[in-house]
Amino acid sequence: MLHFDETYSPLTSDEIIAKARANMDASRFEHCIGVSETARHLAHLNGYDENKAALTGFIHDYAKQVSDADFIAAIKTQGFDLELLKWNRLIWHGIVGTYFIKRDLKIMDAEILRAVWYHTTGAPKMTALDKIVFVADYIEPRRSFAGVDQARQVSFANLDAGVGYELTHTLEFLLAKRARIYPQTLLAYNVWGAEKGE
Ligand code: GDP
Ligand code: FE
Ligand code: FE
Repeated sequence: MLHFDETYSPLTSDEIIAKARANMDASRFEHCIGVSETARHLAHLNGYDENKAALTGFIHDYAKQVSDADFIAAIKTQGFDLELLKWNRLIWHGIVGTYFIKRDLKIMDAEILRAVWYHTTGAPKMTALDKIVFVADYIEPRRSFAGVDQARQVSFANLDAGVGYELTHTLEFLLAKRARIYPQTLLAYNVWGAEKGE
């Protein structure tokens, strides 16, 4: 039975699960379960609190299917950097997702919230939990892109190398599409992905 650590919210595990289920479709919910399980495994391998990692993995995409209008309203009224308005829901759902997680799931733990905040872009400075969630999101069992097996191998052997692999390959993927790069993604790549100064 699905059960999460109840020390980070006044809500019960069942209430958190019910709210998450109601906020997303079935396949996104399954993805969140996969990220939770993979985060637990990565936490085990790296000596981090497994229950905290499992909860954070589960909620990382809580806001993935929030409407654009609700994201925009939250950015404008909740003190977010208004530069965010130039981006889109791919970037918003982690950063602004922290607001919806606080509001709905009553989770206020700073370490959990920052791991959700950075889960899409990474960051130059990442905590153990940031890395665990970032990597678990990329390699959870339902992911099936070319290279995912190598990503899993690298990440299970060395978490930092997994972060570097993911940033490098995400950047290649985005550049191939001529997508706009969020500055934080690039800053993170320079720290975790780049292997040469020149
Ligand atoms: P998901 O929420 O489980 O689908 O995974 P993520 O939150 O990691 O990523 C959401 C999407 O954002 C992915 O398709 C990434 O390729 C994309 N993404 C990550 N960084 C950037 C960026 O700098 N620019 C753009 N345009 N997209 C990005
Ligand atoms: Fe996400
Ligand atoms: Fe995700």
